[in-house]
Amino acid sequence: MSEDHNYKSLSKKIVNWYKKNARNLPWRHTTDPYTIWISEIVLQQTTVQQGLEYYNRFIKAFPDVNTLANASEDEVLKLWEGLGYYSRARNLHFTAKHICQDLDGVFPTTYKELLKLKGVGPYTASAIASFAYNLPHVVVDGNVIRLISRLWGIEEAVDIKPTLSRIAEIGTQLISHQEPSVFNQAIMEMGALCCTYKNPSCDKCPVSASCVARHNDIIASIPYKSKKIKKSKRYFYYFHIIDNEGYTIIHKRSDKDIWQGLYKFPLQEVSGFDVDPNASFIGFNNHDIDTYKSRIFKQTLTHQYIHAQFCIIKLPYSVAEIDNPAYIISPNDKLSSFAWPKIIDLYFKDLSITLF
Ligand code: SF4
Repeated sequence: MSEDHNYKSLSKKIVNWYKKNARNLPWRHTTDPYTIWISEIVLQQTTVQQGLEYYNRFIKAFPDVNTLANASEDEVLKLWEGLGYYSRARNLHFTAKHICQDLDGVFPTTYKELLKLKGVGPYTASAIASFAYNLPHVVVDGNVIRLISRLWGIEEAVDIKPTLSRIAEIGTQLISHQEPSVFNQAIMEMGALCCTYKNPSCDKCPVSASCVARHNDIIASIPYKSKKIKKSKRYFYYFHIIDNEGYTIIHKRSDKDIWQGLYKFPLQEVSGFDVDPNASFIGFNNHDIDTYKSRIFKQTLTHQYIHAQFCIIKLPYSVAEIDNPAYIISPNDKLSSFAWPKIIDLYFKDLSITLF
């Protein structure tokens, strides 16, 4: 440890900066572990601006662990619609039921016990342990990794275990044992607002005098990531079948794939849109029926590029005649009550349907 990296002094500067610059966010005014848990799960992979709206809606609908446990999966996913990473919502629901059924509705109070909850990793367990119970477990999220790796000039890849362990070790040395909760909020907030990914505000940074990355002019190359995510391309034909009585058929995604638990139209996955859509798996032959195709919609996920085209089929008879127990028959005007992936939601909002 160099003189410039006096942990106590750095910690104090970070906390003092926070006390002057903190944003006023609702989850910072509570020590309720349930509320903190919801906010932390909502905020993963999401900006505070986007997460805030979802957090408020979620807490309004499910103000405590009991109401969440007693909700249906459809209700939970509907509130999560558009936020992505739907396994987070399913895990929240599963864990709420576990807490109510197996733990008498009492939230675990130690880091070790919190880690046992489904969907709770080291970051979330540290966040709940410190914000709810004031325990000195440092949070290591993307903001903290960026700030510490720059401050210490860590040029090794931050997506490998030894580097992450080193960053967590530095964080553990830094964390204030008087105010662990405030320190964790502070270091995340500094990463988010001051030591930003692009154009960090080094001139206003309270620890700039100790910052190795600034001193060595290597800010732009830290944090360094070694693994590039390889994305696959997928092509979906969705069959939006509208019958002569105002009904359509939909399907709940139950397979272990993206968007599990959300709804879809009958789907044919193809290798590319040069392959003709074929609705025979649904139970009729679309070559004999008027079919219209939508434009192509695109959605980028962490590991996949999704391309979707919607085949709109006006069935001259009732969809009830399609005998498949997996399908749900829904009135057209009730479709908005189901939870859909973003790409289908975009289709609903789009009116540019072109002739097949
Ligand atoms: S000086 Fe700049 S790069 Fe270094 S910690 Fe502060 S904001 Fe980040």
